[in-house]
Amino acid sequence: MKPKLSALGEFGLIRRFSPAFMKNLPPDIIGIGDDAAVLPWKKDACLLVTTDMLVENVHFLRTEIGPRDLGAKALTVNLSDIAAMGGSPRSAFLSLGIPGKLGIEWLDAFFRGMAELAEASGVHLLGGDTTRSPGPIVINIVVLGQVRRTRLKLRSGARPGDLIVVTGFLGDSGAGLRVLLEDLPRERDEARLVRRHHRPRAHLAEGAWLAARDGVTAMMDVSDGIDSDLRRIMERSHCGAAVNLDDLPLSGPLRRAGKKYGWGVRGLAASGGEDYCLLATIRPDRYERITAGFEKTFGRPLSRIGTIEGKKERLRYRTAGKTVELKPRGFDHFR
Ligand code: ADP
Ligand code: MG
Repeated sequence: MKPKLSALGEFGLIRRFSPAFMKNLPPDIIGIGDDAAVLPWKKDACLLVTTDMLVENVHFLRTEIGPRDLGAKALTVNLSDIAAMGGSPRSAFLSLGIPGKLGIEWLDAFFRGMAELAEASGVHLLGGDTTRSPGPIVINIVVLGQVRRTRLKLRSGARPGDLIVVTGFLGDSGAGLRVLLEDLPRERDEARLVRRHHRPRAHLAEGAWLAARDGVTAMMDVSDGIDSDLRRIMERSHCGAAVNLDDLPLSGPLRRAGKKYGWGVRGLAASGGEDYCLLATIRPDRYERITAGFEKTFGRPLSRIGTIEGKKERLRYRTAGKTVELKPRGFDHFR
């Protein structure tokens, strides 16, 4: 009997169809399974290719996010995948499906937001496609980037004993979404969380810096929440992991709003998605040097949240020294 999509989930589906396309893959190409595909390019540099899609009412609400923020965010989510490979973005292609009645003011602001970020990140839009959509706005972007071959960081390099770190606060974006969906009053903290949801930043500088450090063994970006994303590293690296929920870095606005509304902020930080910071693993003997260097360079710490373990692909959560179950789990489009 064929499984249902809801049982397979997003990643089960990808695992189901991808082998047919990976069979005769040349050994110098990295295809499906990392944040971006990697192709041979120059003697000492690889070409990175990534694509991400935003669909109205799935990824954004037109009544909530302004078009200028949306234009920037659609590019940011792709830049974040280049950051996750330690690369620099170079060019982009944009495919748009838009309802015929969409206002030109909306479109002008959308392109302005995207153009501002493209310029600031050194990215040129080189092409795309534009069609009418019978329903939702659909935005797909492809970004090409480059990385020095020796600096490439994959999801597959984590080893037992490595320390797990993140480059920014977790849970703000998920909390911002909660403010929107529950229509909470937009006081200062709530507004800041919504802003983090609507205007995430790709950690390109952090990714390039970590990529240049030998002791960084694996890297990816946090798009679905560490609960889901860390499992991708475990799967590719064939290892387990233990995360200490008490160590998840929480911003001031999230702590205060969490207290005010009685949210389980640690759960939100572990399973809320779209933070777009980086998740990396570091060899224990290099950890002190790398965290000190990061703090000196970026003026904020690299947060240690757990350890890679040798046991089977199992993710354990601990709080106050006890093992706990995490609910809800990280994001999956079909589950
Ligand atoms: P990301 O969130 O970094 O974009 P995911 O973890 O969501 O990546 O996806 C896992 C892998 O599956 C990625 O390498 C992605 O390119 C690939 N993938 C996802 N959807 C498809 C698809 N429809 N066709 C081919 N590859 C896909
Ligand atoms: Mg990614």
